[in-house]
This record gives sequence, structure tokens and C-alpha cells, in this order.
Amino acid sequence: MELSKKAMSISPSSTLAIDAKAKKMKADGIDVIGFGAGEPDFDTPQHIKEAAIKAIQEGFTKYTPASGTLDLKHAVCRKFKKDNGLDYTPSNIVISNGAKHSLVNAFQAICNPGDEVIIPAPFWVSYPEMVKLADGVPVIVNTTEEDGFKFTVDQIEKAISNKTKALVLNSPSNPTGMIYSEAELRQVADLAVAKGIYVISDEIYEKLIYDGFKHVSIASFNDKIKDLTIVVNGVAKSYSMTGWRIGYTASNAKIAEIMGNVQSHATSNPNSIAQKATVAALDGPQDEVDRMVAEFGKRRDYMVERINAIPGLSCIKPNGAFYVMMNITKIIGTEVCGAVIKGSDDFANMLLEKANVALVPGSGFGTDIHVRLSYATSLKNITEGLNRIEKFLEK
Ligand SMILES: *Cc1c(COP(=O)(O)O)cnc(C)c1O
Repeated sequence: MELSKKAMSISPSSTLAIDAKAKKMKADGIDVIGFGAGEPDFDTPQHIKEAAIKAIQEGFTKYTPASGTLDLKHAVCRKFKKDNGLDYTPSNIVISNGAKHSLVNAFQAICNPGDEVIIPAPFWVSYPEMVKLADGVPVIVNTTEEDGFKFTVDQIEKAISNKTKALVLNSPSNPTGMIYSEAELRQVADLAVAKGIYVISDEIYEKLIYDGFKHVSIASFNDKIKDLTIVVNGVAKSYSMTGWRIGYTASNAKIAEIMGNVQSHATSNPNSIAQKATVAALDGPQDEVDRMVAEFGKRRDYMVERINAIPGLSCIKPNGAFYVMMNITKIIGTEVCGAVIKGSDDFANMLLEKANVALVPGSGFGTDIHVRLSYATSLKNITEGLNRIEKFLEK
């Protein structure tokens, strides 16, 4: 019998194949250095854990409202006011099982069959597949390293058709770490308002920013763009809470209601205990975040300097998140360890097999001349991993 054509058209997460291979090698006792991590290597701050323990002890262990507790929605509203100057009420907020789930809900809420969603590349691997799951059509706009991996408003304007429903914005970006300036975002906002298209603004790396750069939410410019924007955020990256699975959106109340309805049939409420912990994360002291950012900043500086000193490799300095996109153009087509490197998948596979270093090929992000290295690992590992890459390329 025929299975779902739509479900079968969804590619597996490209990061997973190499990750599975690296895990297997580790299990076999091989000392693999991992640059693949998409999560902070720090522990969840203590006061957040304590809030969860307290929730369990107080019996806060039952269903909550499907779109999240009122308590947490209020905390999220306070966060938007404090960090982004945005005024929302709980009717604008939906709490979900991670920001990934929030994004799935967002595309489900706005897409009709054939609606186009513009996604700048390099993109986070899940966006195009999420759009397809919602019967939408991903339209990819390529950006280059020379432009700092940022699109121009001109490029977006050219990609807009009468079927365009939304634009995906991810600043700071995974995988490139780039940040759009306030001036750039204002232009994007004006275009979205003029054309009447939604903006899905994934701001999950908002707090992981270096060199005094400032994060601005596109929703904060005026009421028109605020009404068209679905802001997506969560606690996974800022508070080292990837396993707790809490993300949230802010949108107009109609979209929030639709997303809440969809979610109520798919997953019901996000974990009650994690919701309590998230209130503590958002309302509590933020000094652990500052500590993580300082540490990430040091690692980034070291990694960027080392990469640019290795013949054949280069990278631009990312301003946020915890990834570096390493340019391997000069290596492609050359012979390393007896085999010709044809693209980013080859490079990643060979590096894992011959040098025991795991990183993510750019192919899944829409660029085959780059590989992504995460610096969410210790300076010691970063040093050893880059030493290995250097030696590998000498062969
Ligand atoms: C990690 C990540 C997410 C999802 O975060 P969760 O809250 O863990 O689901 C969303 N967007 C981007 C760009 C990410 O890197």
C-alpha cells in the first residue's frame, strides 16, 4: 500500500548521518573530537533546576492549558518587554515543546497548499522541511560569504511572487552566526509590510552575541510589522536547556489561537515541570548567561584565528550563536589521504574517518563549499580538533 507522499518527501536531518557515525566510533572506543554539537556544553543553571525540583515536590505534575500556563505566558510577556521593548499579552503567546515545535506550529498556522516561503541560505536544516510539511513551497535565496551571509532587500524583493506567504529570518543565524543590523531589519520590515507577507523571526540565539553587537527584534519597529511577525524564541540555547523542550512564540492573537488549537491536538501542553523551570530562567538572575557568552566569545576568537592560519581553509568571524562556517573551496577537487574531496559531505566523512574529527557538512544548510564547526565544546577540544584538521590537510 502506498505511504504518504508528503511524509516520504521529507529528508532526514542531514546532521544526523554523520552524527550517528561519530557516535558509533565513540562507542567503539575511538577518541573522536566533536564539532557537531548544536547545543551548549554548559550545565543548566542551578536555580532553574531547583525550580523544577520544587515543581515536582509541589505536585505540579498534571496537564496544563494546551498552549502553556498563564504564569509562564506572563513571564514571556515580561521578557519581551524587557529585552525587546515589545508589548504582548498572554493572548499573543503560545508555549510549545521547544522552538522547533513553535516553528512547525507557525508554518501550519499560515500556509495553504502552494504558498511560498522565502528561506535565505545557508539555512537551518529544518526550515525547508517544515514548510513542506505544511504544504508550502520553500523558495531559497542564496547569500554569499562576501556579503557576510546576509541577503539584500533587493534579493528578497526579486524572490517575492503572488504566492509568497512569508519570509524566514534567523538572526543571529545558525549556521552562519551573522546578525542583521537594525537598519537592515527596518528595510526588511518595510518590504514585508508593503507586500503584506509574514515574517517568521527565529530569535533563539538572541542572547549569544559578541563584540557589543545588539539584537533587535524586527517585530519592535511598528504595529504593522508586529502584526505580521511571528517571533520564535526559547530557552534551549540561552539557558543551556536543550533537553527541557520549551519554546515560545509571540504573534497576533488570531495566529496564536490557531497555533494553540493545532498544538492541542498534536501534543497537548508542554511539560509542566519544564514550564515552571522556564519561569525561573526568564525571571531569574542572568549572570550565568553572561558567563557562557564570555566563554563562547573566547573560543570563537581562537577558532577563527586558527582556521584562517591553516593553508586552504578560511572563515569569516561570526557575531553570534556558536558556529563557524569554514570555507573549504580550496580543498574541493584536491586529493587528501589518497582520495579526491568532491564536496562538503566527502570532506566531513574523510575527516571523521582519517582524523577522527566530526563536523557538519554544509550540504544540509544549502552550501556545499562550507562545513559547520560548533564551538560549544572546551578550548582543549577545539585546540586538539584543529590540530588534527591541520595534520589531515598536510597529507
Ligand atoms: C536549536 C535551534 C532551534 C530549536 O530549538 P529547540 O528549542 O531546542 O527546539 C530553532 N532554531 C534554530 C536556528 C536552532 O539552532
